[in-house]
Amino acid sequence: MNTFVTVNIYDTGTNFENASTWIDSAFAEIKRIEEMATHYSNTSEIGRINYHAGVDSVAVSEELVSLLEESLKFAEESGGAFNVAVGPIVQAWDFLAEQPRVPERERIDKLLPLIDYRLISMNGNKVYLQKKGMSLDLGGIAKGYAVDRAVDVLKAGGFKRFIVDLGGNLGVFWEGTRLIDSAAARILVRHPRKEGEFFGSFKMGSGGVATSGDYQQYFMAEGVRYHHIIDPTIGYPARGVVSVTAMAPDGITADAFSTLVFVLGRDRGMEVIKNTPGIEGMIIYEDDGMLNVDLSPGLQELFMRNYSHD
Ligand code: AMP
Ligand code: MG
Repeated sequence: MNTFVTVNIYDTGTNFENASTWIDSAFAEIKRIEEMATHYSNTSEIGRINYHAGVDSVAVSEELVSLLEESLKFAEESGGAFNVAVGPIVQAWDFLAEQPRVPERERIDKLLPLIDYRLISMNGNKVYLQKKGMSLDLGGIAKGYAVDRAVDVLKAGGFKRFIVDLGGNLGVFWEGTRLIDSAAARILVRHPRKEGEFFGSFKMGSGGVATSGDYQQYFMAEGVRYHHIIDPTIGYPARGVVSVTAMAPDGITADAFSTLVFVLGRDRGMEVIKNTPGIEGMIIYEDDGMLNVDLSPGLQELFMRNYSHD
């Protein structure tokens, strides 16, 4: 998944060796999901679906079927802002290249008909992409899903207080707390423009948190920032927002929401957060060269622009 994983267990009286064994199992679970969902391979389940696009359906695991069904649910709910069929456009931008450059408009326009999530057919455990050149990219949701599975492993180990951090996608479990709760973890929000600094912090209880930002994978060309979160209606990076931090009862929902709120932008994004039960979030945007933040009602009392390491 091209990132780092940290697991912290805070239970008192934890036996170190026992905890290490369970943490190893949590890492193995994340690895397993990566091997299923990565599009950087022709042999992963996603890789095989992509390889056979426009030619043949591919039988996949029940687990991947559920993950794709969840993805399509987020696509429907967001009016297509969240779109796991975005693969061809992400590849055209190639943000991980050594010297990425802006693709030609013509090329993007030709690819747009291929990123239609309604052309993903699912029949039992068979998945078929209806057009040649289509490809699935679970980059906007797989980390959150993997966090949930790692959280399940640690719960099975009997732990009652822990945090899984998969590249900024967090799963917090603190027995007896709810998502909006000042009793458990303090989350530091990275400053989107100053490396190593923090923008603010908030407290939370059990649940998932994810951040999507225009600083995570990007390049500059002629003074313009091009980043990896694509507005599927135009095939270009979504504009208007610098970063979105979404909180939800679980990691997969937080991950999907961070991405889809980013694409929807400040107004429509905050509306969706407010209208979806169990979701909270913050949207950082730039105004006249200054960074500002919009907070959902649940976060307003918990967020601090300053933070302290207490
Ligand atoms: P995240 O950091 O969770 O916002 O995910 C960003 C990643 O999701 C990108 O690197 C792409 O792999 C993928 N992606 C980009 N645009 C979209 C979109 N509109 N819907 C779903 N996934 C996307
Ligand atoms: Mg996401």
